[in-house]
Amino acid sequence: MPRPVPAIVILGNGSLATARKIQQLYPGALIHGLAERVDGADRVYHEFGATLRQLYQHDTPIIALCAAGIVIRTLAPLLLEKGAEPPVLAVAEDGSAVVPLLGGLGGVNVLAREIAEGLGVAAAITTSGELRFGTCVLNPPSGYALGDLELGKRFVSDLLAGETVRIEGAAPWLAEAQLPHDPGAHLAIHVGSAEREPVANELLIYPKSVVVAVSAEVEDLPDAIRDALHQAKVAAQSVACLLASDQLMASPVLREAALELGVPLRFAAAGSVAELAENAAGQSVSIHADNGIAIAVAEQPLDPLLIGRPRGRLAVIGLGPGAAELMVPAVKAELARANDVLGYETYVRMAGPFRSDQVLHCTDNREEMQRARHAFELAAQGRSVVVVSSGDPGVFAMAAAVLEALHESTDTSWHSVDLEILPGVSASLATAAQAGAPLGHDFCVMSLSDNLKPWDIIEKRLDLAAEADLALAFYNPISRSRPWQLGRALEIVARHRTPETPVVLGRDIGRPGQTLRVTTLGQLTPDQVDMRTMVLIGSSTTCAFPRAEGGDWVYTPRWYGEKPAS
Ligand code: SAH
Repeated sequence: MPRPVPAIVILGNGSLATARKIQQLYPGALIHGLAERVDGADRVYHEFGATLRQLYQHDTPIIALCAAGIVIRTLAPLLLEKGAEPPVLAVAEDGSAVVPLLGGLGGVNVLAREIAEGLGVAAAITTSGELRFGTCVLNPPSGYALGDLELGKRFVSDLLAGETVRIEGAAPWLAEAQLPHDPGAHLAIHVGSAEREPVANELLIYPKSVVVAVSAEVEDLPDAIRDALHQAKVAAQSVACLLASDQLMASPVLREAALELGVPLRFAAAGSVAELAENAAGQSVSIHADNGIAIAVAEQPLDPLLIGRPRGRLAVIGLGPGAAELMVPAVKAELARANDVLGYETYVRMAGPFRSDQVLHCTDNREEMQRARHAFELAAQGRSVVVVSSGDPGVFAMAAAVLEALHESTDTSWHSVDLEILPGVSASLATAAQAGAPLGHDFCVMSLSDNLKPWDIIEKRLDLAAEADLALAFYNPISRSRPWQLGRALEIVARHRTPETPVVLGRDIGRPGQTLRVTTLGQLTPDQVDMRTMVLIGSSTTCAFPRAEGGDWVYTPRWYGEKPAS
């Protein structure tokens, strides 16, 4: 398993040089810098506490260049809630001290040593077992899993108290440890994939050397797998992955079973379950096949990333209007896991920065169907693909194009892709929020672009929506190739509205240089609007009043007709 890439968090320019040195140790790691304090960070954040807590909750390893106390106080409210935690380290601004704080079992001491070596200092390791034995016995390398943490803690404290230990099975990483070996010892570290009852004098470590191949027809799959493992006397902790044939890729039964068992799910070209399992395990020592479940045990731990391929994923995401704070957390997480990012170049750049292992496919804004098909081709290979839209992907953007491409396709590998649409804050809502609540009652959203629909239908909808006294939100109001349409649209609206009707113009909302302007229908002319503008036109009840800090609030009341008694 590759280690997750750490985030380097800094509060001021004074830490930048140290942060860059650490960054060189971790390709792809981003430097998060406090807004207005740090120039040239990879990511800008506004609130230290919220940023640190979010990283922690997403299990991102944290390297914070600040006082240890600040980090402790910031994360304290989260510490009791969480079982497994990511490594968290405090590093002195000038690189003179490296202090592992949390995540002893997540490898914080390994990180601390690496960073300290990179900075030419000694890491402040405080873990007694690690100090004594030179390795954390409870933190085996990837490919191995510790049986029981609580038993393990007792075991290590017995060792620290002076007991000796014998090692059963292959534990190559312990060769360098300074353990007090004794073949006749009472304590034993046992490494093996066979099912074994835990006992107090044994530290069980399971190599992840088992592949379980399944066919979805099996009922109560997780239980059936546990039973099959038990029958074969193989430890569930040693399962490296579940494997099934490509045809079962979209099966929710398999997906849930893998989740419940906490193992990755991989797919390979069709074959019997026994063949699947055996091919995957390579130099397998044993095979057990029964009732659609086959278990293969290899001699060495297996890397699930090298077995078959995962189900591909395609997420169509909305970035929101532009500002990072308005991007939903699910979208941020999706961008972090993406292998490929597709979209109009401006939006792809807005979604960044990206790690060097992420592939960007920037295209022209008009090639939507081609982009959608390309996204499926990539996802069908098992990659994790993101298609980016600004605002919300379902509002005049990529989600509909992606679904259209899928609907037209008979390719089962496309239909097997794990497709998800993740929403964003649409420009009309972001603009409305800044102006007050102009869309506070019924409203109608329209694109004035006649690229993909006849102008007649636009006129008809405008006329009816204006007649119905809906507030109006215009996307794509004008462009160089569509110069006259907005003027015509305003004429139609003016048939049903007074010239005093409030109008809100939001340009580049949530982006650098944003402007918000409140005017009236009578004063609005097309030259005040460009393709980066959102046009909101009030209904007959929309009103405006001055706000203390200058400018106006605009809102449409919740009621219609007579104001209810309050
Ligand atoms: N999916 C996008 C809309 C794409 S259509 C969304 O949900 O917001 C593009 C139009 O959206 C532009 O012509 C403009 O009218 C509007 N728009 C997009 N981003 C905007 C922003 N930041 N500020 C104002 N208008 C914006």
